[in-house]
Amino acid sequence: MRPAVDVNGVRYRWPSRPVVVVCIDGGDPAYLREYLALGAIPNIARFMRQGFSVIAEGTVPSFTCPNNMSIITGTPASKHGISGNYYLDVRSGQAVVMTGPELLRGDTILARFAEAGAKVVSITAKDKLRRQLGKDLDIVRGNISFSSEFADRCTLRENGIENVLDLVGMPQPGMYSMELSLFVLEAGIRLLERNRPDLLYLSLTDWVQHKYAPQEAEALRFYRELDARFGRLAERGAIVALTADHGMNDKSNAAGRPNVIWLQDILDARFGKGDTRVICPITDAFVAHHGALGGFVRVWCTGKATPKQVIDAIRGIDGIEAVLDRETACRVHDLPADREGDVAVIAAPDVCIGAALADHDLSGLEGHRLRTHGGVSEAKVPFILNAPLNDEYRLKAGAAILKSYQIFDFALNGAVA
Ligand SMILES: [Zn+2]
Repeated sequence: MRPAVDVNGVRYRWPSRPVVVVCIDGGDPAYLREYLALGAIPNIARFMRQGFSVIAEGTVPSFTCPNNMSIITGTPASKHGISGNYYLDVRSGQAVVMTGPELLRGDTILARFAEAGAKVVSITAKDKLRRQLGKDLDIVRGNISFSSEFADRCTLRENGIENVLDLVGMPQPGMYSMELSLFVLEAGIRLLERNRPDLLYLSLTDWVQHKYAPQEAEALRFYRELDARFGRLAERGAIVALTADHGMNDKSNAAGRPNVIWLQDILDARFGKGDTRVICPITDAFVAHHGALGGFVRVWCTGKATPKQVIDAIRGIDGIEAVLDRETACRVHDLPADREGDVAVIAAPDVCIGAALADHDLSGLEGHRLRTHGGVSEAKVPFILNAPLNDEYRLKAGAAILKSYQIFDFALNGAVA
């Protein structure tokens, strides 16, 4: 057995068999509850029965990037610095995209293990995550990092692998399809067979959960497909650890229209245009399924209005769950102060918050209900291992609510190998 590896203050044991951590993007516990009751996901049910299962807390804001970075570094956002897809650089007045590796603080568990000589694989659905997950990961030494979005253009130099479509035996999946996620798992299974890596991180996409509620047939079909693949990962001798970056809630009204608080419009009416700047940190290039609407936004005070005045103006709005100044937001949600707004605004479970109505493209939402995430109400996630815990980690699990960023800790140090 090789020596343990220290990453950001946590010591991780060298795996004696492959460890696969899967991030089920948008994997709200409600899906599992529904399908466990139907008996539709027998492999997950077995993991929960024979291994370990709990509902853990994810990082708030409950968005994809912050949570993937928490999982991959084993730290809260206050440490790794990625608290959304965007923040406002107050000096330039520009919204800065936070999805590049240069803004990620600290090391990733994958890169440190690779440095110590482990074979490491990282596969994501969307390419926007790939670079950040692959921070400092040395591809040249036989490690692999790619996205199913760009599976057809992988190169040895950039990704550590080529001819991925042949390897996986699936056609290039579409951007908005369940196959984009299934491809990630199929590739993981094939690489587990062929390369027997020590660590795999497989991160899916939440397209299905944005579109379909647990009761809808397409969501059930997706989870049956996921479950079969989790079973195949376990059959190949891996420790399989399942979690999610965030949950998902229906945020439409009885008429099927999104329940939106247009916060920039409200603040402009109250303080005048240009006095405040609302940033929706969910915004990315793939807004068709959520219209850049989430349950968490930040307000920067760029004119005369003070944070206190802004908080007072927002506090009474119906559908707002919490409105916090910077210091309180950082303390309560463990966030990095230098990337936090003057005011953080969190929506109730059935409500989302936008900036100005005119700035959001809602055309992609036509014909279906808005399901999205970002708030505290979407920060509960599954935390499942296919192996039981040792005594030390059983105690640890019983002593406090687990954080989803402890998943590598539990998979490497807690699972009975
Ligand atoms: Zn996500």
